[in-house]
Amino acid sequence: MTDPTDTRDTGPRPGTPLWAYLTSTSVLGVIALTVCEVRLGLDSLGEAVTSVLFWMILLLVVLGELRPVMVSSSTLVGGTPTSTMFTFAVLMHSGLSVAVLVQATAVVISGLAHRRSLHRVTFNVAQVTIACLASALVLAAFRIMPTPDDSWTPGGPQDIPAILLAGGAYFAVRGLLVCWAVALHERRPLLRVVRASIGPQALVYGALLGLAPLVVVVLENAPGLVPLFVAPLAAVYFTATLSMRRDHQATHDGLTNLPNRKMLIVKTEEALDEAREDERVGLLLLDLDRFKEVNDTLGHPVGDRLLQIMAHRLTHSVRPKDVVARLGGDEFAVLLPQIRDAHAAREVASRLRVALTEPVRLEGMIFDLDASIGIALFPDDAPDFELLLQRADVAMYMAKEGRTGVEFYIAAKDRNSPERLGLLGDLRRAIDKNELELHYQPKVCLEDGQVEGVEALLRWFHPVRGPVLPVEFVPLAEQSYLMRELTQHVINLALDQAARWWHAGIEVPISVNISARDLLDSGLPDQLESGLARLGLPADAIHLEVTERILMTDQAYTADTIRTLSRLGIVLALDDFGTGYSSLVRLQRLPVSEVKIDASFVRRLGESEDDERIVRSIVDLVRSLGLTSVAEGVESGEIAALLREMGCHAGQGWWLAQPMTPAEATTWLRARLRLPAVIQEAQVI
Ligand code: C2E
Ligand code: MG
Ligand code: MG
Repeated sequence: MTDPTDTRDTGPRPGTPLWAYLTSTSVLGVIALTVCEVRLGLDSLGEAVTSVLFWMILLLVVLGELRPVMVSSSTLVGGTPTSTMFTFAVLMHSGLSVAVLVQATAVVISGLAHRRSLHRVTFNVAQVTIACLASALVLAAFRIMPTPDDSWTPGGPQDIPAILLAGGAYFAVRGLLVCWAVALHERRPLLRVVRASIGPQALVYGALLGLAPLVVVVLENAPGLVPLFVAPLAAVYFTATLSMRRDHQATHDGLTNLPNRKMLIVKTEEALDEAREDERVGLLLLDLDRFKEVNDTLGHPVGDRLLQIMAHRLTHSVRPKDVVARLGGDEFAVLLPQIRDAHAAREVASRLRVALTEPVRLEGMIFDLDASIGIALFPDDAPDFELLLQRADVAMYMAKEGRTGVEFYIAAKDRNSPERLGLLGDLRRAIDKNELELHYQPKVCLEDGQVEGVEALLRWFHPVRGPVLPVEFVPLAEQSYLMRELTQHVINLALDQAARWWHAGIEVPISVNISARDLLDSGLPDQLESGLARLGLPADAIHLEVTERILMTDQAYTADTIRTLSRLGIVLALDDFGTGYSSLVRLQRLPVSEVKIDASFVRRLGESEDDERIVRSIVDLVRSLGLTSVAEGVESGEIAALLREMGCHAGQGWWLAQPMTPAEATTWLRARLRLPAVIQEAQVI
């Protein structure tokens, strides 16, 4: 184990408990070291130092110190030096003084190689010396007191208890010394630190200390064979390194090397567990504004570089124990495990924002980005991770909408009741468990009855509540970070269905509903582009529908995604037209091809003259702009006839066809398209 302050340059502030602890341990250790060496005497020391065996062991121990076994990326206390095996062997064979001499020399060399500061090296020397001393005392209790002149070799099973206890003492003392430093440094309870690190470390220590008696036997009988022990050591080292790398990959983001969502959950839960009454835990959600523009105009490599720079700036703007994580795209989260109050959290947020808005010089250009930050605090705003993130997200969205930069979560402004939040949690599980389905409702040309496409409509059968309508949960998801996942899921389902249909000759476009919020997501066009390519589908296989309300949001944020989508050849339709108050100018500027007239006007066509006038003028307007009109909510033959007479191109509604399950839709489509009978049902559903 290594000093927890290894990664930092400055020592602890004098007078602090950590400083007092490190200093007293170091002094104690150095005294113990001096006493050991003095007791050994110059003669024995000289003798030991001139033997080849001594240098060989020293070399092995130094190598072990330089290459510690990292057992887990999340282990607080660093790695386990493989040198432990040889040190413990020397301790049993030649006694405390030689073991301590070898180990202390190796720690100093490794300290020099890693340019560690003096106080760290001293602490590390003290740590190993005290651990060796504890181990030697246990051996002495069994009357095993070897010296270089009077070495000891285990003789059989009767020695096993002594060896086990001595090895255990070494491990326990060394572990405790480091954990204590970590606990003081991070102001966490000692027991928790021990619990978090003991498991994986114990395993490696067990392997290393267990091999040590065999090293002693070889040392005594055939010292020349000792280097062969490097082989099992290398195996332990590489296995552990590999598993740690996997662990690291699973919990970190590949681009920025920051912790990912999974790791953030673990860290937040730890922080919530350990939070003291007079402190808060803060969760900040950050979203870069205008990042998309850079990514689109200059390409992904520049965008990636920019994200890396931002990640670097974020990590350097917080304290060492704060956690900066990347949640995906240009969304970052910062966990503040111990924060005094809301004021302090705002200070951190402002500092982060300043760090992010600092112009970036890249590829000879200067970029000015901005960020919106939402803050949620534990226990004030939420009792657990999911809710904290959700509330930080509400706050972030408010900061973005109001262009205020930093916002706190304010319950009064949150439209989520506990019941709705419960539903949101259920929805998240439903996505994970694949409980959501898409049903398909055809769009039919009113002139000739041709199928123009189908609209994918989300269906959720809740295990307790039964069927839940999209109007109940989609707006809820829209207010939260879950929308991104929901849309990704829906797009994947639609892509899979499109692949089944198109490859079976049913070439109808599937229209997917997306929310305005999805257009803020720079990942959407990528997901579509790669999905279509992967499945060998043309861009026309998927259309997108976005509600007219998009025209009322700030278009600076969505324009990029819309432009990219239209460049990919993805047809965009404006849904629920007539319910918002879009201006003609805005409609003209958007690259939409289709306008869907909202069902609320269409349904009452026969009854209300006002509605008839509205629909007629929309149809005229849409035609004059060169776009296609589709009437939603066509519930009767009379309405369909009226719409046709008005010049409305297509219709969608119960009278034409209900939303259908994939199997029903396949049968319906096949009948309408009069496909040859050779196409088997099994192929397409
Ligand atoms: P929308 O996009 O306007 O979808 C049309 C809605 O009208 C659907 O309701 C459909 O079942 C319903 N409908 C179809 N024919 C008739 C008819 O003749 N009369 C009447 N009165 N209604 C008819 P649904 O499936 O309940 O979906 C409601 C809304 O939820 C959708 O409105 C859409 O905005 C949203 N939604 C549905 N699926 C998704 C999705 O996968 N993602 C997103 N973001 N939103 C979705
Ligand atoms: Mg729609
Ligand atoms: Mg609609």
